[in-house]
Amino acid sequence: YKKLRLILGDQLNQKHSWFAQADQSILYVLMEIRTETDYVWHHIQKACAFFAAMEGFADLLNSRHHDTIYLKLDDPSNLQSFTANCNALIKKYQIESFEYQLPDEYRVDEELKTYCSALNIPAQTCDTEHFYTTRDELGTFFSGKKGLLMENFYREMRKKHNILMDGKEPIAGKWNFDEDNRKKLPKNHHPYPPLLFTNTVQAQYHRIRNAGIETIGSIDPQNLYWPLNRQQSLKLLSYFTENCLPLFGTFQDAMHTDEWSVYHSRLSFSMNTKMLSPKEVVGAAVAAWEQNKKSIAINQLEGFVRQILGWREYMRGIYWLKMPDYQKLNYFDHQRKLPDWYWTGKTKMNCLKHSIGQSLNHAYAHHIQRLMITGNFALLAGINPDEVDFWYLGIYIDAIQWVEITNTRGMSQYADGGITGSKPYTASANYIHKQSNYCDNCHYDRTKRTGEDACPFNSLYWDFHDRHRAKLGNNIRLSMVYRLWDKMAPDDHEATLLRANFCLENLEKL
Ligand code: FAD
Ligand code: SF4
Repeated sequence: YKKLRLILGDQLNQKHSWFAQADQSILYVLMEIRTETDYVWHHIQKACAFFAAMEGFADLLNSRHHDTIYLKLDDPSNLQSFTANCNALIKKYQIESFEYQLPDEYRVDEELKTYCSALNIPAQTCDTEHFYTTRDELGTFFSGKKGLLMENFYREMRKKHNILMDGKEPIAGKWNFDEDNRKKLPKNHHPYPPLLFTNTVQAQYHRIRNAGIETIGSIDPQNLYWPLNRQQSLKLLSYFTENCLPLFGTFQDAMHTDEWSVYHSRLSFSMNTKMLSPKEVVGAAVAAWEQNKKSIAINQLEGFVRQILGWREYMRGIYWLKMPDYQKLNYFDHQRKLPDWYWTGKTKMNCLKHSIGQSLNHAYAHHIQRLMITGNFALLAGINPDEVDFWYLGIYIDAIQWVEITNTRGMSQYADGGITGSKPYTASANYIHKQSNYCDNCHYDRTKRTGEDACPFNSLYWDFHDRHRAKLGNNIRLSMVYRLWDKMAPDDHEATLLRANFCLENLEKL
C-alpha cells in the first residue's frame, strides 16, 4: 500500500468522496482503542453501538474493494491509540503518505496535528463532507457583529441554503414558530412508538466487558435497538417523516412518564456518526412536507429544520470558535459534586427519577429532559460544570464533545456566561408541571416552596437567582424574575432560602 487513511469512529460516511472509487494502493483503518473508551464512563449501549457500527462500516468498505483493517479492542497487535497503531501500520506496509478527515473533537484534532507534524512521510487532511458549514464559518459570520445570537445564524443558513424560503422571505412569513410548539401530551394521547431495530452486539459487548472498561447503563446485547448502519438509519428517517413529523413541533417540549422519545426523531446517533448527513435529513423532512402539506403543518417542519440547520451547525461553530478555553469556563464558579443518584436514578424527585432512569435504560433523553430536568437541576444546585459534562458526555448515545459541551456547559449550565444563550435556562415546578405528568405522582408537592414536602426546584430556583444577582441582576430578560422576588415579603425570602439551603445540604437525600 502507498497510502494509509485513518477513519474515526464518528466518520462512517459511505458517501464520502474517498470511497468514490476503489484504489488498491490505499489502506483504510478503523480501530477500537482505550483512549476512546476510557475518557469518560460511556453508556454500554453507546460503546456497543459505536463499535458495531464501525465494524459494519469496515465490512462494507471491504465488500466494495476498499481494503480496510478493523482493529478490535482485543487484537494482540492493537496498541490502543490512533498514533501508535498508525505508526505500526506505516512501518509494516511501508506506507508513503497518511491522510485523515478533519476530526470533530478538539482533543483528537490536536493529537493528529501533533502526530502529523512529527511524521516523516507526507500527511494530509480533508473535510468530512458532512456539515452545512465549515469549522470557521460561524466565526466569520459573526466577526464584527455584536453577540452570537443563534437566530441570526439560523436565518443566514436558511437564506444561504435556500431552505423554507419564498424568495428573500421565510415561507409562511415567519422565521420561527416556537410559540406553537409547547403543548403538553393530552391524557390518553399515545405518540407513535419509537421504531426499534433488533441488532445483536454480543461480540462487541464481550470485548468491552473482558477488557474491564467502566461503563454505565443497561443493555440487552441480543437486542440493541439503535440504528447501526445506513439502511437502518434511512428507515428511521422515513419512519420519522411519516409518523412523527406531523406532530413533532407541537409536542417538542412535552415529557411523559410512559413515553421516552415522544415525537422526537432519535436520529442524533445516525447523524453524529455521519451514517446520515444533515442535508439528507432536512431534505427528507422538507420533501415529506411538500408532498403532504395537509398533515404536516409548517410549524412542525420549521421546528425540526431549526434543530438541525440552526442549533446543530451553530453549536459546532461555537465549539471551533471557543475551544479549548470553552471546556474550562465556569461563570458562576459552581463547585458542588454531582449527586450520586445521577448515576442510579434513585431520587424521590419524580421528574429526575424518570429522566435519569430512561437515560440509563435507553442511552437517550430528549432535549427538554436534558435541558429542563437534569440540566436545570444541576444548574440550580450549583454543580461543578466539569462533573455535569462528565455525566452528559458518557450517558447519551449521541454524546460527542463538540455537541455535548456546547449544549451542557453552554446552553444548560450557562457556564459560558452567555455565549450560547441570552439567559440561563432555569425553571421551577410550575414549568415542569406544564410540560409533563411528572408532578402527578411525585413525593414532593409542586405547589409548595417551603416545608418538608415542598418541591426542591421551587426554593432552589429563587435561591439561584438571589445568589447570582450580581451576575444576572442586570439581564433585561430576567427583570420580571427579580421584580417578583423583590415583591415577596422578607419572611417569605427567609423561609425560601432556608428550604433551599436544606436541599443543598442534603442533595443526596432528595
Ligand atoms: P430531535 O428532537 O428529533 O431533533 C433532531 C435533531 O436536531 C437531533 O438529532 C440533533 O441532531 C439536532 N439537535 C436538536 N437540538 C440540538 C441542539 N441543541 N444542539 C445540537 N443539535 C441539536 N445532542 C447531541 O447530538 N449530542 C449530545 O451530546 C448532546 N448533549 C446535550 C446536552 C444537553 C444538556 C442538552 C440540553 C442537549 C444536548 N444535545 C445533544 C442536543 C439535543 O438534546 C439532542 O441532539 C437530541 O435530544 C437528540 O435526540 P433526537 O435525535 O431525537 O432529536
Ligand atoms: Fe419534579 Fe418537583 Fe414535579 Fe416532583 S414536584 S416531579 S420534584 S418538579
